[in-house]
Amino acid sequence: MKIYLDNAATTPLDPAVLDAMTPYLLEHFGNPSSQHQYGRKARSVIENCRSSIAVHLNCLPEEIIFTSGGTEADNIALVSAVTLGGVDHVITTPFEHHAVLQTLKSLAKSHDVRTSFLQHDNRGNLDPDHLHYLLRTNTRNLVSVMHANNEIGNLNDIAQIAESARHFKALFHTDTVQTMGHYHYNLATLPAHFLAASAHKFHGPKGVGFLYCRKGTPLARLIHGGGQERALRAGTENIPGIVGLATALDLAYQNLVKDHLYIQSLKDRLIRQLRSLLPEVQFNGNSALAEQSLYTVLSVNFPNQQPDLLRALDEQGIAVSGGSACSTGAASHVLKAIGVTNGNTIRFSFSRFNTPEQIDRAAFVLAGICELVAA
Ligand code: PLP
Repeated sequence: MKIYLDNAATTPLDPAVLDAMTPYLLEHFGNPSSQHQYGRKARSVIENCRSSIAVHLNCLPEEIIFTSGGTEADNIALVSAVTLGGVDHVITTPFEHHAVLQTLKSLAKSHDVRTSFLQHDNRGNLDPDHLHYLLRTNTRNLVSVMHANNEIGNLNDIAQIAESARHFKALFHTDTVQTMGHYHYNLATLPAHFLAASAHKFHGPKGVGFLYCRKGTPLARLIHGGGQERALRAGTENIPGIVGLATALDLAYQNLVKDHLYIQSLKDRLIRQLRSLLPEVQFNGNSALAEQSLYTVLSVNFPNQQPDLLRALDEQGIAVSGGSACSTGAASHVLKAIGVTNGNTIRFSFSRFNTPEQIDRAAFVLAGICELVAA
């Protein structure tokens, strides 16, 4: 039995999403910039998708810019804030994805901008007093805090953080790559300027995502060329991808409550099994706390294990990861930030396509591997 428990790296495409995309690969293949019927059809599809996403997020269609995924959306947001938004100080966290951290590093080399990292406790909970202090003592701020961490699953209170940013007239960006389609967003009440999302994390296709940019917030042009996406992002649009993205988001929001309960039950089941089969395991950050962590992610530390647990599981057909898929092999900056430097961490991440039987099998196989190692 092959078991895929690495849904934070990417999710399988929902067959219904593929069905929605197929006509735009085969029949309606027109270039949306063309004036003939093929082109007009493609243009209207893009705008329908944009509107449907905007309805889910309660924002304006023109506030949605299609991108190649989460990384590009994060890049555009940060570069825009620094190059056009007058920002010279970014307040962020050591837990952000490299799409944010590396972009900030690069901006610090080319622009007059400093970065401060929010203080946190050893579970990764951010210190709101430190945020207020940093906002008070600097003036042209951007706050960039992810909604949920992709490695340990910690959820940040972005409503409160956005409110603090608003109070101090700072820009606010949030990376929602792991949470879009898993939680509701109401951008009429959440005072965010930028939000980044990626379709392949909610059963959509890879290579497509979007940036939300609040009306009136200046946006930098990173890709030069034609006038697509209001001349903000040149290049012929990825129509099948955009259709897949919008369809996947529709499906995610139609079934959100049901899927949330189901996936949380899978996560709780694995926590119970691991606690009973392997009492020495520890859960990283807030991973095991239902209210304070993403229901799709469980990060587990095995204090006494050899570092090839992942390979041993893979050999038994069970796909999990050690942390972020993008930094495979490198020591995790997230685990380091919360002081987890010993043992062996496995990130299990779930989707609506997993079953309780798969969870039981994964726990059983894992316990067997750990016993062998201990013997
Ligand atoms: N931000 C977070 C939190 C992620 O988990 C990822 C991907 O794993 C990204 C950004 C990058 O998204 P994409 O793969 O769409 O470029």
